[in-house]
Amino acid sequence: MSPAHPEYQSDSTRPPARSQQRLLSIIIPCHNEEAVIEATHARLCGIAPAVGMPLEVIYIDDGSRDRTLEQLQQIAAADPRVTVLELSRNFGQQAAMSAGLEQARGDAVVIIDADLQDPPEVIPEMVARWRDGVDVVYGRRRRRVGETAFKLITASLFHRFFASLMPYPMPVDTGDFKLCDRAVIDAVCSLPEKRRYLRNLVPWAGFHHEPVWYDRDARPAGETKYSPRKLLALAADAVVLSSDKPLRLTWLAAGILGLAGLTGLLATAASSGQQTATLPAVLAVVGLIAAVQTAAIALVGEYVVRGYRETQGRPPYVIRQTISGGIGAATSANTPHVRRQDAA
Ligand code: UDP
Ligand code: MG
Repeated sequence: MSPAHPEYQSDSTRPPARSQQRLLSIIIPCHNEEAVIEATHARLCGIAPAVGMPLEVIYIDDGSRDRTLEQLQQIAAADPRVTVLELSRNFGQQAAMSAGLEQARGDAVVIIDADLQDPPEVIPEMVARWRDGVDVVYGRRRRRVGETAFKLITASLFHRFFASLMPYPMPVDTGDFKLCDRAVIDAVCSLPEKRRYLRNLVPWAGFHHEPVWYDRDARPAGETKYSPRKLLALAADAVVLSSDKPLRLTWLAAGILGLAGLTGLLATAASSGQQTATLPAVLAVVGLIAAVQTAAIALVGEYVVRGYRETQGRPPYVIRQTISGGIGAATSANTPHVRRQDAA
């Protein structure tokens, strides 16, 4: 099991506090969020004075099919702090967040969902910790309001199982809601891999981490964009993109050896007694071994397919247009997707 995520043990381990900082970027991926996006922007505007530094708010419209983009355009037209990136289709939340991170210019960057489940009012506390010298301030969930018992239990188990598989320390009970220093964002964005799972990559980058505890609210409107199938695919990405431990199949081989031994014993017992009674049991064990082997091949396939996608080298997202905030908002249509490291 990986060790608990390191947090500061004493003041002597703290890096120096940050004083003169210029800009805070807030990254918000949006997919079909018409029911909530205006309220979200109003809440973000409300915390701006408490943040104590200028804001840059980047909304990424991830292929919404409702009025989200239209609403974001109106928000941008009225607020010069806002930039809207319209992706050319739905690329998924991780890709949308990547697009926002590559666009962000802030000395610190906050990632937050569009649906107000993560309260924006926590951001000033994150900024205060960052000013104290913490590089990554992640939101740690104390309570989750309005989630089903199934989701709570599976999420809690998955976080712990997942942390045990990672080759580096991972915080548990956290999501994407976090503040990262510019150095952390640069480290993550400079990685050559195309399919990023940011919840892994920020801890991978290291630096000094600290939690801010908060209660996760229920969605005020709209619904989750994650069906059980999408959640499963995300969980597979979470493990396969960062850990090779599941591939170490020694334990599986030992299990198969045990089953084969058991089969041998049953077969021996059958030859000296009632063969008809034990044959179904032997067949069941043989079937089980075949199923385990097929599952092992499928597991290897999960790694192969992700390696295949990486070798294709396709960008994780395509930007259709970038809308800069302010009256007469400038729109650069068909902005080609360019990654920071490619552009250098
Ligand atoms: N999201 C996205 N693209 C997607 C799915 C989701 O940009 O394909 C955004 C969504 O609009 C929200 C965030 O990702 O801002 C988290 O999604 P959601 O609230 O549905 O996830 P949950 O909180 O239910 O896990
Ligand atoms: Mg949500």
